[in-house]
Amino acid sequence: MVTAVIELDGIVKHYGGGASPTVTVLHGVSLRIEPGEFVAIVGASGSGKSTLMHILGCLDRPSAGRYRFAGTDVSQMGSDELAWLRREAFGFVFQGYHLIPTCSARENVEVPALYAGRPTAQRQQRAADLLRRLGLGERLDNRPNQLSGGQQQRVSIARALMNGGRIILADEPTGALDSRSGEEVMALLDELSAQGHTLILITHDREVAARAKRVIEIRDGHIVADSGGQAGEAALPLPDLRDARDAGGASFAGDLLEALRSAWRVMWLNRFRTALTLLGIVIGVASVIVMLAIGLGTKQRVVQQMASLGATIMYVSGDYPPEGGPMGAVTVEDLAAVSELPQVRHAMPVIGNALTVRYGNLSKSLYTFASTEEMPLIHRWPVVQGRFFTAAEDRELAPLVVMGHKAWTYFFPDGESPLGRQLLVGNALFEVIGVLKEKGADSGVEDYDEMLFIPYNAGRARVYKGMTDPDYAVIDAMSPALVKEAEEAMQELLLERHGRKDFGIGNAAAKLQAQAEAQDSMTLMLSLIAAVSLLVGGIGVMNVMLMTVRERTREIGIRVATGARQRDILRQFLSESTLLSLVGGLIGVVIGLSIGTVLLLSGVPVVFSLTACLGAFGCALVTGLVFGYAPARKAARLDPVVALGGE
Ligand code: ADP
Ligand code: MG
Repeated sequence: MVTAVIELDGIVKHYGGGASPTVTVLHGVSLRIEPGEFVAIVGASGSGKSTLMHILGCLDRPSAGRYRFAGTDVSQMGSDELAWLRREAFGFVFQGYHLIPTCSARENVEVPALYAGRPTAQRQQRAADLLRRLGLGERLDNRPNQLSGGQQQRVSIARALMNGGRIILADEPTGALDSRSGEEVMALLDELSAQGHTLILITHDREVAARAKRVIEIRDGHIVADSGGQAGEAALPLPDLRDARDAGGASFAGDLLEALRSAWRVMWLNRFRTALTLLGIVIGVASVIVMLAIGLGTKQRVVQQMASLGATIMYVSGDYPPEGGPMGAVTVEDLAAVSELPQVRHAMPVIGNALTVRYGNLSKSLYTFASTEEMPLIHRWPVVQGRFFTAAEDRELAPLVVMGHKAWTYFFPDGESPLGRQLLVGNALFEVIGVLKEKGADSGVEDYDEMLFIPYNAGRARVYKGMTDPDYAVIDAMSPALVKEAEEAMQELLLERHGRKDFGIGNAAAKLQAQAEAQDSMTLMLSLIAAVSLLVGGIGVMNVMLMTVRERTREIGIRVATGARQRDILRQFLSESTLLSLVGGLIGVVIGLSIGTVLLLSGVPVVFSLTACLGAFGCALVTGLVFGYAPARKAARLDPVVALGGE
C-alpha cells in the first residue's frame, strides 16, 4: 500500500477558551488522501471547511488528533520545516485570490520561489512561463487591481504551481467568480489533476464538487459522507521530508535585495507619508552635521586667533590703584622677578611711541618699539632679511633698527636692500640690520607692519630719554594651559613687591581659551538637541512601520502561506525601516552639507567633518534598526490564519 499524502486521525479544533466561550469547530475528523487524488470537501457555510483546510495546509495546528503528512507526524515539525512544507509541497488557491497588491502578476507568482532561495533569473523565467501557460502572457506586469477576478485567480494558481504545487489546496476558488471565469478555473484544476497534482477542493457548491473524483461531505465539524477514493495513476512523487531539515530557505543577499526592492516600492506608493516620517530623521541628521560644522569652525577660528595673538601672551603695565593715589609702574626689576616664576618663559619690557623717521628726503611717523631681543620669539614674528639684534647688542646700547614690512617698502620703494643704511629716528641715527616678515596678512592688523624695532636700552638712551620704566611688558607663559596660572602667580608677586594693586594685567589668551571652552559646551548642547530630533525621527519610523504592518497584515499572511519563515518576514520589515531611515539619513547629509555650504559662503566659520557625516548617517541607520525591530517582530509573529482573514 502507498503512503498516504495526508492522514488525519481524530482532528479536533477549538476556538476561544479563556475569557471567550470555547467553540469546537472540528469534532474528530479522520480521513486519508492518496497521492494524485482529486477530492472535493463540501459543506454548508460555517461547517468548518476552511478550518480544515488551514490545518491541512499547516497554516494552523489542530487542538487534538494526529496529522501525518507523507507518514510524518506534523506536530513534530518545527516552524521552519512547516514553512518548507508550505512552499515545497502545498499550493494555496483562495476564494479572495490573496495576491500582494503592490506586486505585479509575475512578482506575485515568484514569491514562493523567492522564499525557496531560487536564483532570480530562473525564478522570473518560470513565473513568466507559468503565466503564459495560464493565458496571462500579456499581463505579466499588471498589478492585481488591473486584473479581472478570473485573471487574478489564474495568477494565484500560477503561484500555487511555482514550486511544483504537488498538493493544491483550493478554498472556494470559484466562489467570487462569474460562471464563465469559474468554468475556466475549474477546467484548469481538472487539467492539473490529470497531470498528477493532488487536489483538495473546498466548496459549498455541489455542482462544482461533482467534478472531483471523490466527494467528502462535512456538516458542523463532522464528516457525514465520503465517496471514497484511490491514488491517481500518474501521481507526482511526494516531496522528501528529509530535505526540509537542510533547506536553507531564502538566501540572505538575494532576499535582502528583494526586501529592499519591495521596501522601496512601498515607500514610493506612500510617498507623502514617507516624506513626513523622514522629516524627523532628515532634520536630525542635517542639524547634527550643521551644528558640528559650525562648532568646529568657530573653534578653529578661535584657535587661529590665539595663534596669531599668541596663546601664551599677557600684558602688564602700571595703573592707578583702585583705592586712589599715584599711578604705579612696572619696573625692569619687577620683570626680572616675574621672569623667574616657573610658569613664565619670558618677560619683555616695551617702550613704544610714534616718532618721525627720516631717510634721504623721505619722512614718516612710525611707531617705534623698543624691546629686547626676545621680540621675534614671543610674537612668533620671523625676520626675512638680515637679522634681529642680540642681547649683547641691547646691553651695549647698539643703535640698530629692524624694519616692519611696510616701513621698508615706504623708505625703499624699489625693493632695494635697506641693510647697512642709517635711519634718523627722532634725533638719533640707527643702522638697519633686518626686515620682518609681513604680519598684516595673517593678523588682520596692518599697522603692525608700519613699525620699527630698536633695542630697549638704546631706545631709552637715544630716543626715549625721559622714560625710566617700560610703558608695559609682554609676558610669555610656558604653555597655553598655564596662562591663567601664570597670571595669578604674577599678580601675587607684584602685589607683594608693590604693596598695592597699582598695575593691570591683560590676559587675552585666557579669554580666548574660555571662549573655546564655552564653544565646546555649546556644541555639546546643540548636538544633544540634534540627537533628540533623531530620536523623534526614530519614533516616527516606528509609528509608520506599525501602521505598515497593520495595513499589510494580509500580505504577511500571504507570504507565510507561500512559505516565508518568521525570519524572512522579520528581515523584510527590518529592511523597510532601515531603508526608510537610510534614505532620511542620506537626505539629511545632503541638506546638512548644503546648509553648511551656504553658511560658509556667507562668511560663517564652518568646518565639515567626515566623522560627523558618517556618525549622523550611522545614527540614522541604527535608528531604523532599533525602532523598526518591534514592528518587524510583530509582523513576524502574526498568526497566518488571522493575518489572511485580516484587512
Ligand atoms: P466554512 O469555511 O465551512 O464556512 P469555517 O471553517 O470558516 O467554515 O468556520 C467554521 C466555524 O468556526 C464557524 O462557525 C466560524 O464562526 C468558526 N470560527 C472560524 N474561525 C474562528 C475563530 N478564529 N474564532 C472563533 N470561531 C471561529
Ligand atoms: Mg470557508
